[in-house]
Amino acid sequence: MEYSCQCPPPCTYEIKVEANNDDEAVEKIMQAGATHIKEAHSDMKISEEQMRSMVRSNMKKGGCACMAKKNP
Ligand SMILES: [Zn+2]
Repeated sequence: MEYSCQCPPPCTYEIKVEANNDDEAVEKIMQAGATHIKEAHSDMKISEEQMRSMVRSNMKKGGCACMAKKNP
């Protein structure tokens, strides 16, 4: 199934991965996002453990974003 994880605002970067479970998704998102984090958030000083828990709490299951989208 598809998982997606969006950077905190104002960054609009979204990482999408295909994984079978939550643990696999976290690993894949961290790998996929590593380059972006280095380039766009080089000042972000968080440990791998912090990053992992942030991804876990931010990521969303499912390919369709319409359910999760919130327009203020
Ligand atoms: Zn970002």
